[in-house]
Amino acid sequence: MTTTFDRLAAGSTIGILGGGQLGRMLAVAAAELGFDCVVYEPEADCPAGRVAAKCFTAAWDDQEALAAFADCVDVVTFEFENVPAPSLAFLAERTSIRPGLKSLQLTQDRLDEKQFIQGLGLETAPYATCDTLEALERAVGTIGVPAILKTRTLGYDGKGQFRLSQISDTAEAWAALGGKPAILEGFVSFEREVSVILARAVDGSFAAFDVTENVHQGGILRTSTVPAQISEALGTKAVEAASQIAAALDHIGVLAVEFFVVGADQLVVNEIAPRVHNSGHWTQDGCAADQFQQHIRAVVHWPLASTKRHAPQVVMNNLIGTDVEAWADLAGQPDTFIHLYGKRAVRDGRKMGHVIKI
Ligand code: AMP
Repeated sequence: MTTTFDRLAAGSTIGILGGGQLGRMLAVAAAELGFDCVVYEPEADCPAGRVAAKCFTAAWDDQEALAAFADCVDVVTFEFENVPAPSLAFLAERTSIRPGLKSLQLTQDRLDEKQFIQGLGLETAPYATCDTLEALERAVGTIGVPAILKTRTLGYDGKGQFRLSQISDTAEAWAALGGKPAILEGFVSFEREVSVILARAVDGSFAAFDVTENVHQGGILRTSTVPAQISEALGTKAVEAASQIAAALDHIGVLAVEFFVVGADQLVVNEIAPRVHNSGHWTQDGCAADQFQQHIRAVVHWPLASTKRHAPQVVMNNLIGTDVEAWADLAGQPDTFIHLYGKRAVRDGRKMGHVIKI
């Protein structure tokens, strides 16, 4: 059951756990609706902290800082799912958390997530748990190659993953992941990748943006295009699956579900993100109210906004590493809108910004 939660009035304060680009764009969206944001992030000088009313720079297990943070906010949300669950539980005793602990905890562990998805009757890639090198060798025997070894926790943007193309890769794969508990996933031979970005409100209603088609390189999202080249029926099925997941988590806020499309009409759930998502950035210039505003609306218990797209096609390209050096050229291109994250240093594979072409 969803608990009742009074609407927060403009002027209230939203706490954001995590100070990266997603937190930054959430804070800007919150400001547009008249809210103040306070960011909590262990790293100093973070992108979100520089657009927020206040920023706590403290470790995730600093209970004094967490308590002070809880004292100055009316609700807490998070921009990434690797906030340690005990920190969120500590905050939950002091203030409202949206989305809740269940969404965070479930998506922190790939094994729990896969079991949960299958428990809902949805399909995942074939997988096996690998806690030892011997278990990995057995798993390769059952699942075969190609396959991907993924750490159960703390992976993102292709990190914590190793692709096995032959059976003899097992020892190298196991060493590459540092012997951490992992799952081996069979390689899904997909036609395309799509994602659903939806927001679920306190009353259980939800609003989904148009299904997005995504292209990844080296495990990192490069491009999102809307509309996705799939049938209307498959799009409806994807949205139904995502809303089923959101409801089962009693999720409040934006949730993203990434799928592999196999053949013309088979959907395999790849991953759930209990937060705003890179594949939803196109909504910033493609919709009147973007995923960030939608998340804030859900979290403060305001009505959800329309998810209507206002351009026939929208394409979002990430600016990764040195891509960002082309900012001056990109800023001058017609019908193209550049968004930069305010990161101080360019690093290989680091998301620095994105451009949206409508
Ligand atoms: P992940 O971080 O697990 O979402 O993986 C990032 C990207 O790697 C995905 O979006 C896919 O492009 C690719 N990938 C991950 N797992 C698989 C799989 N089991 N089969 C095929 N491609 C995969």
